[in-house]
Amino acid sequence: MKIVKTKSTVKKLIRELKKVKALKDKMEQLSDDELKAKTSDFRQRFMCEADKRVLGMFPFDVQILAGIALHRGYLAEMNTGEGKTLTATLPMYLNGLTGKGAILVTNNEYLALRDAEEMGPAYEFMGLTIKAGVKRNEDDRFENEEKKEIYASDIVYTTHSVLGFDYLINNLVKSSEERFLRPFNYIIIDEADSVLLDSASTPLVISGSPRVQSNLYEAADFFIRILQEDVDYEVEEKNVWFTEKGLSYAEEYFGIDNIFAPEYFEIYRHLVLALRAHKIIEKGTEYMINEAGEVALIDASSGRMLKGVKLRGGQHQAIECKEQVEITQENRSMASITYQNFFSMFPKMAGMSGTIYDAKDELMDVYGKEVVVIPTNNPIRRVDCPDWYFSDSTKQFEAALQLAVKKHETGQPVLIVTTMISDTEIISHLLVKEGIPHSVLNANNAFWEADIIKEAGQMGAMTVATSMAGRGTDIKLGPGVKELGGLAVIGVGRMLNVRDERQARGRAGRQGDPGYSRFIVSLEDDIVEKGTDPEKLKKYISGERKISDWRVKRIVNKAQRINEEVGSTNRKTSKDYDVVLQLERKLMYDTRDMLLDGGTLEDEKIKAIAEENIDGFLKDNKQLTKAALNRYILDNISYEMEKDMRYLNLSDKSEVKEYMLERVDKSLEEKRKVIDSENGMKDFVRVSALTAIDEAWIEQVDYLQQLQPAVSGRSSAQRNLMYEYHAEALKSFRKMEKRIKCNIIRNILLSEVSMDKKNRLHIILP
Ligand code: ADP
Ligand code: MG
Repeated sequence: MKIVKTKSTVKKLIRELKKVKALKDKMEQLSDDELKAKTSDFRQRFMCEADKRVLGMFPFDVQILAGIALHRGYLAEMNTGEGKTLTATLPMYLNGLTGKGAILVTNNEYLALRDAEEMGPAYEFMGLTIKAGVKRNEDDRFENEEKKEIYASDIVYTTHSVLGFDYLINNLVKSSEERFLRPFNYIIIDEADSVLLDSASTPLVISGSPRVQSNLYEAADFFIRILQEDVDYEVEEKNVWFTEKGLSYAEEYFGIDNIFAPEYFEIYRHLVLALRAHKIIEKGTEYMINEAGEVALIDASSGRMLKGVKLRGGQHQAIECKEQVEITQENRSMASITYQNFFSMFPKMAGMSGTIYDAKDELMDVYGKEVVVIPTNNPIRRVDCPDWYFSDSTKQFEAALQLAVKKHETGQPVLIVTTMISDTEIISHLLVKEGIPHSVLNANNAFWEADIIKEAGQMGAMTVATSMAGRGTDIKLGPGVKELGGLAVIGVGRMLNVRDERQARGRAGRQGDPGYSRFIVSLEDDIVEKGTDPEKLKKYISGERKISDWRVKRIVNKAQRINEEVGSTNRKTSKDYDVVLQLERKLMYDTRDMLLDGGTLEDEKIKAIAEENIDGFLKDNKQLTKAALNRYILDNISYEMEKDMRYLNLSDKSEVKEYMLERVDKSLEEKRKVIDSENGMKDFVRVSALTAIDEAWIEQVDYLQQLQPAVSGRSSAQRNLMYEYHAEALKSFRKMEKRIKCNIIRNILLSEVSMDKKNRLHIILP
C-alpha cells in the first residue's frame, strides 16, 4: 500500500495530531474570547522569532507580557532600559497586519528615527512596510506625496507633534487629492508620560494670516500698572481676576458704562491679558528676554528657551508690552487641538514609559486609560539613597560637588542631573575649578545630546545634564564599571514632579545593573516659592533662623506637590476648553470630508438653505423697507436690479418670500446654463460650500482662542468660568452655522463662473 511508503510522514502527522488532541481539554476550558485571542498570541510569537532572527534579540517574557498589554490598549509602566523599543514591535506587528496602519509616536525626532531604523528590518522581514514620519532636521518638510507614502505604510514611527500637526493640516486641504492621512487605527505612545502629560497643557495650533494690530495693548498695560492687589484684583495660585471694584474702576477709566457689553469686549479682553501678563506670568521661569530683545517662552520641564513658540490669543503681545519691547505681529489661529482630544480619536491607543504609574489617576480621568506595571526582567540592584537637605544652595552645590568628586575618584561614572539649564552651568563651573573634565548637556538638540549621554556610563565619565536631556537614550556601562557600582546619579534640586526624579534615577541600574542615586535639595530650589511664608524662608536661607532637615523636607516636598497639582489642573482646564471645540471640530471635519469625498448639495438642499436664510431675514425685518430688501438681494441672491419689485406688497411676507425664492431659482438657473454639465455644477457647489465652511470655521477657532483668556479674567467664587465659556462657545457656534448657510448661498448665487476653451471651470467668488 502507498501508506507504507510515506509511513514516516504519517507518523509525524500522527504526532502532531496527538499534540492537538492533548490540547483539546485545555482549549475546552477557554472562554470564547480567550480562544479568539489565541490567533493573536500565535502571531505575536512569529514576531518574537523575527526579532530574534533579524535583530538578534528574542523578547524576554516580561517584554511579551508588556506586548500583550500594549495590544490590549493599556499604558504599560516598564522601567528604563527594559527594552520598550523591542517590546513595541510585537503589538505594532499585530496591529499592522490589519492593513489599517499602526503608528508609534515618541517625544523627539531622534528617538523616532533611531527606532524606525533599528526595528525596521524585523517588520520588513515579516512582509510589512515601515516608514519614519520625521526628518533629522525638524525644519525639513516632507512633500505631500511623500506624506501619503508614509501614512500608507503598515507601520509608522514619528513624533507626537508632527502627527498632530499633520492631522490639522490634513483637515485644511482644499481637495481630496491633497489628503494624506488614513483613518486612525492603532497608536503606541512611547515616553507616554512626557507626551500625554508634559506636552498636554499647550494645544497644537496652526497660525494663519496676521491679525490687524490692536492699539489697546498699551492702554491696558498702563491701566494695570496703577491697580492695587486685593482691592482691584485678586490672585490665587495661577489665577487672577478683577474685583467688582476693579471693574467699575476700568469702566470709569475707559469712559464706558458696562464693561461686559459686547461692544467693549476688546477692551475687556486686553485688560485681562495685561492683568495676567503682570500678575501671574513670571519672568525668569515662564519667559525671558532673549539676546535679540524678544520675549521667549521657557520650557518648564527642561528650563530651555522654546524656539519660535508664542503664547496665543494676544497674551504674548501683552507680555511684550509689560516688558516694553517691540510688540510683535499676532497671527490668527486657523486650527487647533489638544493632545488629550487628539489621542482620544484613535480607536485603540496604548502607551509605555518608565515613569507613568505616579500619574495613573489623572491618566484614567483624562484619557480613560489604565496603567499596568510590568515587572523587571532582572531584580533592580540600583541603590536609591535618601535625600540630603540643606537650607541654602551654596551648601547644596558644595555637597553635590564633593559627592561627585568622591565617586569620580574611584573611576565610577557620574551623572549630575539638575532642574534648570542655569544650574548645569554652575555645576560645570565648580567642576572646572576641581579640574575634572566633563560634558554638559544644555543644547536644544536631541541628536547631539543622545550621542553624549550614551557615553555617560564609561569609566571616569562625568556628565552634567538637565532632567529631560537625552530621555530615551540607553546608557550602557563600560567595561569594569559594574565592579565599581555602576552609574551614579546625583540629582541637584527638587524637580517639578516625582516622575522627573524617577526618570533621572532610572538612568542608572538598567537591566539589573548596579547603580546609585541620591537627590540633594535645598530651600533655594526653584520650586520652593509657593506655600511658605517668604519672610521666614529668607531667614532660614540666610541662617538667621535654624531649620531642621525634617522641616526642609516638608517645605520642599510640599512645593513639589503644589506644582504637580497646578500642572494637573492646567491640563484639565486645557482639555475642558477643548471639549466644545472637539464637538464642533468633528462636525466641521465630517462635513468637509463629505464634500471632499465627492458629496455635494443637491438642488433641493440649496433651495432649502436659501429659504431658511430668507425666513431669517424676514423675521429680523418685521417692518420691511424696499431698501433693505434690495440690499439683501444684492448681497445674497443676485446683482441684477429688477423693476418688477415695484409691484410687491412689502407687508405681505408670503408674497415677498415667493418673489425672493423665484430670484434664487433664476440665479441658480443662470449658473447652470453657463456651466452646462452635471459634474461641473457639482464641483462648483462643492467649492462654494467648502469655502464658506472654512472661512467661518477658521474665524470660529480663532475667536474661541481669544475667548479663553478673556473668560478666565471673570473668574471669581460666584462665577463658573468654564460654564460661561461653554455657553459663549455654543452661542458663537450657532451664529457661525447661520453665517455658513448665508455664505454657501452667497457663494453659489453671486460667484462669477465661466468656462474656458478647454472646458475648464473658472470661479470668482464674491
Ligand atoms: P527602554 O526604552 O525601555 O529604556 P531600550 O528599548 O532603549 O529600553 O532598550 C535598552 C537596551 O536593551 C537596548 O540596548 C536593547 O538593545 C536591549 N534589549 C532590549 N530587549 C532585549 C532582549 N530581549 N534581548 C537583548 N537585549 C535587549
Ligand atoms: Mg525607550
